[in-house]
Amino acid sequence: MKLLLINPVSEFRRGFLRSEITKYPPLAYGIIAALTPDNWEIEIIDENFEDFEFKEVDLVGLTGYTSSIYRAYQIADIYKKKNIPVIIGGIHASMVPNEAKGYADSVVVGEVESCWKDVIKDFENGSLKKFYHGERLSLDNIPPIDYSLFNPNYKVSSTITTRGCPFDCEFCTVTAFNGSKYRMRPVENVLDEIEKMPQEMFFFVDDNIVGYSNTSKEHAKKIFQGIIDRGIKKYWWSQASLNFADDEELLKLAFESGCRLIFIGIEAETIEGLESTNKTLNARIGVDKYNLAFDKIRKAGISVLGSFIFGLDSDNEQDLINRREFIKNANVDCFQCGILTPMPGTQTYKRMEKEGRLTKTNYPEDWQYYSVEDVTFKPAKIEESRLFELMKGIWYDVYGRKTLTRKFLHTLRATKNVEASTWALATNISYRNMMMDLFGDDKFDIESLIGPYKDMFKGK
Ligand code: SF4
Repeated sequence: MKLLLINPVSEFRRGFLRSEITKYPPLAYGIIAALTPDNWEIEIIDENFEDFEFKEVDLVGLTGYTSSIYRAYQIADIYKKKNIPVIIGGIHASMVPNEAKGYADSVVVGEVESCWKDVIKDFENGSLKKFYHGERLSLDNIPPIDYSLFNPNYKVSSTITTRGCPFDCEFCTVTAFNGSKYRMRPVENVLDEIEKMPQEMFFFVDDNIVGYSNTSKEHAKKIFQGIIDRGIKKYWWSQASLNFADDEELLKLAFESGCRLIFIGIEAETIEGLESTNKTLNARIGVDKYNLAFDKIRKAGISVLGSFIFGLDSDNEQDLINRREFIKNANVDCFQCGILTPMPGTQTYKRMEKEGRLTKTNYPEDWQYYSVEDVTFKPAKIEESRLFELMKGIWYDVYGRKTLTRKFLHTLRATKNVEASTWALATNISYRNMMMDLFGDDKFDIESLIGPYKDMFKGK
């Protein structure tokens, strides 16, 4: 029996994936492979590195984020036409299972660990069900990954230490998919996996690696200490909330274990902006404390990747300009400046659907726009086309050579660490590539690109 797992990559907005540091192995396929009985042969086709080519197999597995799901459905169609059964799972399919069912024989809704063995057993018995609903198990159930299954061209590997989030930010899918309970994976399982990765850089794909309690912080510290104790010499990055800055011992261990970059969801620099997305954690910490927190992290030798959202319901034009100014002057080293995107399954999507504000609704094709680079809804206080125009100007400005050079020098001074500074610069360049892709200019001639927009911010 042969199982083919395909990692779909949409050609539509590929700019971010031009960079080697923003491509990560499809971890879910590593988990599925480990859960599949030994009598099955497993192969992964990874569109990050290879062109899709039809292969005769017994069963096909597909997953995808919302922005890549159209490509997944295109591949599923090819196999369905050849009468080869297709299973689709992952976050998008879990949020809109009935849509996914139109392209697959079975849909796995939720986390896969509790039900994959049933999928395989039912397939072998010729009795595949339309839907399988995964429970949220303890993370002891994540099996060890065989990294040799992944394409060897990946420069950055990945693993996971936790799932779930007790907060419920309006735009975020984490709570809907992984639940509100913060679950932690056994430390030794994580360390064994890191030891086996062939790459020297890796990404902890956690949504918040340090969590929100003393117990979760201790769990993170044990992992960092374990990396040090085992003599593992790799660099890593992950995602966390602002409370990452609170604990000096944690910062020290994170740095010593190889952390050089941390992604923090800032979203907005105003209380109104935070309230409009229900980002209560940042509001509680206080917008005036942001720079203090960034500096504590940078002082530990770790660069800060701040994520900001543009087009919040509280945003007027001036708010967008102010956010751009804040980003340029704040002590963040690199930045994601995304457009608010109503991802399926989120409160934002449900609310906008109810209010009749969604504008890219030719699904599934239009899901390709749901990647924070496009406007997919009617903004509350700005015209839809004007928001996109403003975003072009903001991207040209914040990812321009001048800003990136200045930021790089600041990072170097603040972190006193070359790897942290280089990683931050490379991340900014990846976001810049994303923008290049939008406007189709490979050479990124900044002057000619800025031309139509350079007067936009005069006098503001
Ligand atoms: S954005 Fe972060 S804090 Fe908010 S719900 Fe998602 S994971 Fe939790």
